[in-house]
Amino acid sequence: MPIQRGGPVEGTPAEGAVFLTALTAGPIARVDIARETGLSSAAVTRVAKLLIDEGYLEYAPDQPASADETRMGRPSSPLRVHARQTGSFGIIVRRDELIGVVCDLAGAPLVAERRPLDDNSVAATIAAIAAFYRELVQRAEGAGFVVAPHDLGLSLSGDIDHDTGYVRYSPFLGWRDVDLGTAVSQTVGAPVVVENDVKALTVAEQWFGLGQGITNFAVVTIGTGIGCAIVVDGGLVRGAHSVAGEIGHLPLGDPSVQCHCGAHGCVEAEASTTALLERCRSATGRDDLTIESAVELARSGDDGVRAIFARAGRLIGLALASVANLLGPERVIVAGEGVSSYDLFEAAIREAFAEQAFGAAHQVPIHVRDLPFEEWARGAAAVAIQELVFPSRQRVAADIRRRPGARRV
Ligand SMILES: [Zn+2]
Repeated sequence: MPIQRGGPVEGTPAEGAVFLTALTAGPIARVDIARETGLSSAAVTRVAKLLIDEGYLEYAPDQPASADETRMGRPSSPLRVHARQTGSFGIIVRRDELIGVVCDLAGAPLVAERRPLDDNSVAATIAAIAAFYRELVQRAEGAGFVVAPHDLGLSLSGDIDHDTGYVRYSPFLGWRDVDLGTAVSQTVGAPVVVENDVKALTVAEQWFGLGQGITNFAVVTIGTGIGCAIVVDGGLVRGAHSVAGEIGHLPLGDPSVQCHCGAHGCVEAEASTTALLERCRSATGRDDLTIESAVELARSGDDGVRAIFARAGRLIGLALASVANLLGPERVIVAGEGVSSYDLFEAAIREAFAEQAFGAAHQVPIHVRDLPFEEWARGAAAVAIQELVFPSRQRVAADIRRRPGARRV
């Protein structure tokens, strides 16, 4: 379903920049928005007025305007996002559960819940998402929204085409070529945007986390998969097919090892939780080993198991160095379930990174973040807010083309 645009806001880059600055740095005066965004004062004033008229921005309270300011349109009153104007829903789809949040327009989570996902066939997953969405809609009632939220951001791991909502390949769900966005949108009767889970998490980090105020950074996730998303010059890099940043499939490992993607030598083929567990089982001869017991064995000093974790850490460190060498981020954020055993990877990651990062790139700080999956779901909700307020150009163009009497493409 195309995004329904209610008023004169068109989702231009200037509107997006002003909204985002108010969101991440608000309350903020227009003069400071102009400085942050590089837009002229006149452009900021014009765009801010549009966004205020649409209800997206408001003047911060406790900042009474003087009579002069009121006469002049309150040029110095700080602006912020009008959080309860509306909101969005975010759901992350994992192999065995759904984690969902209701966020306000400023991205603050008001509700966070989990539901088991017993059957991850396409039909059962869509039905479970729709049922969970309806529960979240009910939970949002009474939260004081001016306009009841209905936009849903969905995130899941794998090769996701953000522009079309198409899941090309999700190894953990065993899906190929699923038109998830359309199917869920038709089932729930609301706009749905689908994003790769690490890219969605990166939007949350950019808006609310360690990416705030940073124009170049990378988020690398370790766990069931090795994921990465990159922000360059303030923009999330999706690339032509939305697959930019797939460092898990850099061929830095043993070329004789085949990855689930079909290629050989991928980092993920040796460093994912699944690969680690398989290796630990074969090294110890214990088929009953779980990842938790493997971590315990390593911590208790089992040299063979420690070496398997160190080997994974080395590959992750080499992959991080590749990101640093290619893109020169100001910082790298490491997240994902794997950070709970980061102590087993850390020395090897740092050593390989220092060895392979070129020149000044080896000074890039690596921050480890233990983010719960609710924070990932918040990222999906943030992507829905992004689409609501300033949809991607493809969507705006497609939306306008569908309108009768369209005057602009
Ligand atoms: Zn691969």
